[in-house]
This record gives sequence, structure tokens and C-alpha cells, in this order.
Amino acid sequence: MNCMFCRIILGEAPAKVYYQDDDVIVFFDRAPLTPIHLLVCPKTHYNNFMDAPQEVHQMLVRTVKRVITELGEKAKDFRIMINNGPRSGQTVFHLHYHIMAGK
Ligand code: 5GP
Ligand code: ZN
Repeated sequence: MNCMFCRIILGEAPAKVYYQDDDVIVFFDRAPLTPIHLLVCPKTHYNNFMDAPQEVHQMLVRTVKRVITELGEKAKDFRIMINNGPRSGQTVFHLHYHIMAGK
């Protein structure tokens, strides 16, 4: 298994996990660009945004919105980012939404 995020999902690599259930895991980015920098990943592996079906994105956006709501005042203003493909800056080829806030 050479996907780092699959290894985190399987518990084979460490991560500071904020939330997880059967479908999704949310953990802190190891190199945060903002005071709060979370990654929201489906537990099923998709290489990128375009590979994942609509229902998966719906589940991820629901999760993003719930996490941001939970964070409250700390994440009143935020940025959501998805890189798709190496020339966009994608470095981990397991779909993830970035949540950046607190700055
Ligand atoms: P991308 O550039 O693919 O959109 O984002 C990948 C993100 O994952 C980067 O912000 C990077 O810091 C983060 N990252 C890469 N490997 C790991 C890891 O093993 N653990 C954690 N927590 N974050 C990682
Ligand atoms: Zn993966």
C-alpha cells in the first residue's frame, strides 16, 4: 500500500484525527498552512476530485460543513481547497478536501 492516506485510514500510519466514521476521516494536516488546517478524506480510495462519484462529494461536503459548524467562531472565515492533478499542486493522490481557517 503506497497511499499515505490509506495507511492513515487503516491505522498503519499516525495522524491527529479530528473525526471519523465508516465513510470519512478528518485529520490535521502535518504541515498546516493556517492555524486550523484539516483534511477531509473518503475512506474509499479515489485518486482525485474527478475520479470520485457525486455521492462521495455530497458526503464529503456534508462533513466539511458539519466540521466547520462545530469549530464555531474559530472557523468563522475559512477556505476550502481541492487540488486535482500534479500541476495543480496535488501531492497526495487520495481525494481530500482541505479546510483552512483561523487566520
Ligand atoms: P495536496 O497538495 O495533495 O492537495 O495536499 C496534501 C496535503 O497532505 C499537504 O498539505 C500535506 O502537508 C499533507 N500531508 C502529506 N502527507 C501527510 C501525512 O502523512 N500526514 C498528514 N497529517 N498530512 C500529510
Ligand atoms: Zn488512498
